[in-house]
This record gives sequence, structure tokens and C-alpha cells, in this order.
Amino acid sequence: MTAYPHLLAPLDLGFTTLKNRVLMGSMHTGLEETKDWNRVAEFYAERARGGVALMVTGGIAPNREGGVLPGASGMMNDKDVADHSIVTQRVHDAGGKIAMQILHAGRYAYSPECVAPSPVKSPISPFPPAELDEDGIQKQINDIANSAVLAQKAGYDGVEIMGSEGYFLNQFIVTHTNKRTDGWGGSYENRIKLPIEVVRRTREAVGPDFIIIYRLSMIDLIPNGSTHAEVVQLAQEIEKAGATIINTGIGWHEARIPTIATSVPRRAFAWVTKKLMGKVSIPVITSNRINTPEIGEEVLAEGCADMVSMARPMLADAHFVAKAANDESAKIAPCIGCNQACLDHTFGGKLTTCLVNPMACYETELTITKSDTPKTIAIVGAGPAGLSTAMTAAERGHTVTLFDRADEIGGQLNMAKQVPGKEEFWGFVDWYRTMIADLGITVELGKEITADDLTGYDEVIIATGVLPRDPQIPGQDGPNVVDYIDVLRGKVTVGDRVAVIGAGGIGFDVSEYLVHDGDSPTENLPLWMEEWGVTDPEKARGGLAPEGPQPHKPARQVTLLQRKSEALGKRLGKTTGWIHRAALKMKNVEFVGGVNYERIDADGLHVSFGEARENPKVIPADTIVLCAGQVSDRSLADALADKGITSHVIGGADVASELDAKRAIRQGTELAAAL
Ligand code: NAP
Ligand code: SF4
Repeated sequence: MTAYPHLLAPLDLGFTTLKNRVLMGSMHTGLEETKDWNRVAEFYAERARGGVALMVTGGIAPNREGGVLPGASGMMNDKDVADHSIVTQRVHDAGGKIAMQILHAGRYAYSPECVAPSPVKSPISPFPPAELDEDGIQKQINDIANSAVLAQKAGYDGVEIMGSEGYFLNQFIVTHTNKRTDGWGGSYENRIKLPIEVVRRTREAVGPDFIIIYRLSMIDLIPNGSTHAEVVQLAQEIEKAGATIINTGIGWHEARIPTIATSVPRRAFAWVTKKLMGKVSIPVITSNRINTPEIGEEVLAEGCADMVSMARPMLADAHFVAKAANDESAKIAPCIGCNQACLDHTFGGKLTTCLVNPMACYETELTITKSDTPKTIAIVGAGPAGLSTAMTAAERGHTVTLFDRADEIGGQLNMAKQVPGKEEFWGFVDWYRTMIADLGITVELGKEITADDLTGYDEVIIATGVLPRDPQIPGQDGPNVVDYIDVLRGKVTVGDRVAVIGAGGIGFDVSEYLVHDGDSPTENLPLWMEEWGVTDPEKARGGLAPEGPQPHKPARQVTLLQRKSEALGKRLGKTTGWIHRAALKMKNVEFVGGVNYERIDADGLHVSFGEARENPKVIPADTIVLCAGQVSDRSLADALADKGITSHVIGGADVASELDAKRAIRQGTELAAAL
């Protein structure tokens, strides 16, 4: 008997059956734009082999004006059909099913050619859209239906029509973006005519035996968004128009409420989908922050939906479903919701991959094969760099010994997991522990390793990480000064007024840690909703609480400082930086940039401003926390070099300036793949 009877139950769609209740949600990886269709095919085929029932591709444009960017991948002609056929063939050979997402970006298109119901510029694009006339609207409908026909010709099992997240169809639905006075605007009936017509004409064009998923925005999280009654009305009309499945969309891209970041509670929006259950007779899919088989099973067992969509978890582990089915869920590489290598890459114009799994989207480039010459390998440092090297080396058949002076594996990950909103790091370290044991890696903890301990190995890898940078501020040896490591380890008492020196990722994390007490909102959904101002769309349009965000009182008064005069947090993750900044602002954290640190004394931190060291002032503080960045810990590597032992130096020990688990894990994996 499986632990996941609901998750693994087949779903009969009448003309076809899905083998379980897991959908791989659409992700824009950038792979299609490489035009390396073999690589695209292998990405999806690997996930088909991993057991997911149905996959949805990244957004594919139905026409030029609808593309997210100029040159975005489209389904518009026979050449596109031929390219995509490579993907569908490979997926079917692997026993999978795949639907193509038709994405018309409307005013979200980063292009001067963008079109929309009304000329209302989006806050996330510099291009004002052109208002469509009647012919223009008919062209968009025809292009979407035609794209579905071409997708069918290319061998897809279905299409997903993107109607949520604030894209084109969604833009017609709400008055926020639809100011029309003709038959496509005004009343709600008029505003939903376009999505209904799109589904109706698509169904007419593709016939009955083809999956049409409609992704419907169930909580817009923007002013003047839809009410729940309107969502139900739309869903019922979409069913009548011929959709096979309704998928959940949460929040517009311009919403100022996080919807998928790691600090969003798990299954935070399953209750929204549940409100639609029983009101339509076609299957309904729920989505957002579902990242383990346990959570998927739970939401299905509670009747929140008929299927669950997981997108990023399928980047982290292509074999998610197969492992769940084999009773090996502890071995599923967890998606920690960081966005660092997926969405941050997409929005930075880089190919998507995954912090936890550097093989994601590199299926044809980074392959792990058994070694012909098994070696003995010593790895010093059980942080992300050392752990990923150890795992890959052991998978290849090498005999690996992993050392760390600490009593536990995980390195800096153990600090990150203490931060409210970063609870996913607990599972990440647990996963490494499981895999290290499963792969038979010898682990020696709690022992300071010297160069003498490392003789006799075929390869020595130094992943000793970083040491905190000494900012050399006069008075920093006083009793009121502590470093971030002692704070996050709970080793020191921190006063009520705190100055945090350094506003990098760790300065932000430490500030977050210090303003919270009691429950982390990430572990308490009602609290999280209150803090961000989210409510039931039955009570308020778009699910925005009329009273706005209601953050709880901060546990401490924190001042966060940096020397650079640029905005604090500017260099944080592209898709998550705004969340960190907003979260601290809500807790009244004061951001101070452009400072010189003059000295520290019993009154607090003395600073001045600018090159002329003007406007001296004291930041009153009971405790000053140093988060001034890192330097590489290369002492062991240097000692080895003195003894003539060659070593590979990776992770923070190699480059500290970007102390970064993403780079460390990729570097370790690539090194071990080549040893
Ligand atoms: P960082 O991003 O390099 O930031 C260091 C901060 O210290 C900056 O604000 C810098 O700003 C300041 N600084 C640098 N030299 C200084 C000096 N001599 N005196 C005073 N201040 C100085 O380093 P980080 O915050 O340690 O984070 C590093 C990376 O770790 C992040 O980019 C992220 O990838 C990762 N990260 C890790 C964790 C974790 O828990 N391990 C958590 C979050 C992020 P000024 O030079 O302008 O003063
Ligand atoms: Fe998940 Fe982070 Fe990997 Fe993206 S990069 S899939 S958020 S673990």
C-alpha cells in the first residue's frame, strides 16, 4: 500500500487516462530559445521517465505580438511543428504525456509590438500596449486556436491556455486593465467573453479528443481583481466552452504579494482552489508551494483539488513521482523555493537550472557516468560544495571520505535554516544526510583536519568554505559587538536596538531573524496572510484585504547599514529581492546607505556620510552585528601545497565574494563528474 494513494491514483479524462495526479506546471526555461531541440526533448523526456502524469511546456507564443520577448519561441508554422515533434516523440517514447502552453503575454510582452484590451502600461514593462480593435481581437483568437491545431499536429497531447498571472486573457477579465466600452469591455459578461471564445474556438478546431487545460486566475492579488463569484462564473463558462481541466493561477506578476517564494507557506493557496471544487464537473488542479509528495497527498485527500501542479520541484528532481511511488520520498531532491537558478535566471536572460540540481536543463551537457578508474577521494568541508562533490563522486563509483570540523553536515546551510522564511533549508540538509548514507560515503565529523590527515588519497578536495570578513572598525572588540554566526546559532543575547553592519544576503537574513519572535509566518498561514494583506476573494476583490498588510510588531528595532550609496538590497535575487526589502520595511527596519563606520562604543555605532565624512551621527544600539561579507578559508589548501599535495579548491574556499550555494553545488558536481 502506497503512502500516497490520492497522489498516485489515475485520472480518467474520458478519451485518455493520466497515470497519476501530478502535473508538471509550465516553466519558462529558455531551452526552446536555444533551438537545440534535442536538448529540449531530453529535458522533458527525463521528467517523463521520472513518472509525472502530464507535463506542460514553457509558454509558447501564438503570434509575434503575443511573445514575452522579441524572438520568443512560438507555434506559428510548419517549422515550429517539426521542431516540437522532436520533443513530443521523445516524451511519448519515454511513456509520458505533454501539453503545450499557449502564452499570449499582452501588455506583459517586453516588446514595442505588444497589444492589450486597453492602452494601460504594465508596471513591469517599459512598453505601452496598443489597444486592439475588433479585427485585432479576432486575429488573436484565430492565432491562439491555430496554435493549438499546430500543437496537435506536432504530437502534443493537449494545450494549456494561459489565462492567469495577468497575461493577455486575464487582462480582458478585470477593469484594472480593460477600459473598453465595446462588447469586449464594461460588464463582467463582456470582459470574460474573450477567454470563453478562445476556449470555444480552440475546442472547435482541435476536436474532442485533445486535452485543453485552462489556467484560471483564482485570486488576482491586485486592486479591482475578480471576486470569487466571478471566478466561479468564469470557470463554469470555460467548462461549457470545452475545457478538459482547469488549472489554478495565483496572483498577477505585478502583484506585491509573494506567491511562490520560499517564505510563502507550503500549500498557501490550496484553499483558493478548494473553493471551486464541486462548482464545475471537470477536474481542477491546484498549485503553488507544493513541493513534497506528503503535501500533494494532503491537499488531494482534503479535497482541495483533483490534481496537483508542481513545477520547480520537477527541476530539483526529475524523478520526484517515481521516487514517491517506490517509497523513496526521503531521496527526492527538494525544491527549496529559492528561485536562484530558475526564475532569477529566466528574468536575467539566462538559461534556467536548479540550485539543488545542476543537471536540470543540462541533461545533455552534464552527465554522470560510472568511472572506469575508481579512486579514493578525500573531501574536506561538508557544506554544499563538499556535499555535492561527495554525492556525485560516490555515484560514479569512487570511494569517498567527507570530513568536517563541525559536528553536523550542511555548513552555511545550517545557518540559513535558522532564518524565518528559510525553513526549507532543514529539508535540504536532511536530504543530503539521507543521500550521503545511501551512497555509502564515509563521514568524519567533529575533527580538525590537517594536511597530514590527507596523504594517501588519489584526490583531495578542499571545500572549507569561508570566514567572516574583519571590517576593522575601531571598538568592534567591545562587548556589544557580535558576528552573524553567533547570532544565527543562538549563542549570544541580542538587545532591543540593533545595528546590522553589511546589507548583503546575510545582513538581510540576520535582520529578518532579529525582527521576528514567536511563530515564523511561513509556518503559520493565517499569520502570513494577515502580514501580507491576503484575504478570501469572497470577502474582497482580488483577495486583497481592505485594511492592507497588518505586520506584527517587530521584536527589535533594527537599523541595516552599508557603505555603498545605492539602494539597500539592490543586488539580492531578481525575483526575491523585493520580497526581502518589503518584509523588512514592514517591520520598520531602517535602511541606511552611504555610511562610513567611524567607531563603536557603549552608545552604539558612530557613522558619517560621504567622502568628506560629513554629518556624523550615532546609531543608538545595544548590539551591533557584523555581516560584512566573507573571505575564503584556504588555510588547509595552502598547507597542502606546502607539502606538495595537489588539491582541488572549490566553493567559498575558492571564491568567497559570491559565497553562493548555487555556484558551489554546480562547481562540486562538475568537478566530481570529471574526476
Ligand atoms: P555580501 O553579499 O558580499 O555582502 C557583504 C556586505 O558587507 C555588503 O553589504 C558590503 O556592503 C559589506 N561590506 C563588505 N566589506 C565590508 C567591510 N570591509 N566593512 C564593512 N562592510 C563591508 O556577503 P553576505 O551578506 O555575507 O552574503 C554573501 C552571499 O551569501 C549572498 O550573495 C548570497 O548568495 C549568500 N547568502 C548566504 C546566506 C547564508 O545563510 N549562508 C544567506 C543569504 C545569502 P558595503 O561594501 O557597501 O558596505
Ligand atoms: Fe527550486 Fe531553487 Fe531549484 Fe528553483 S533553483 S527549482 S526554487 S531549488
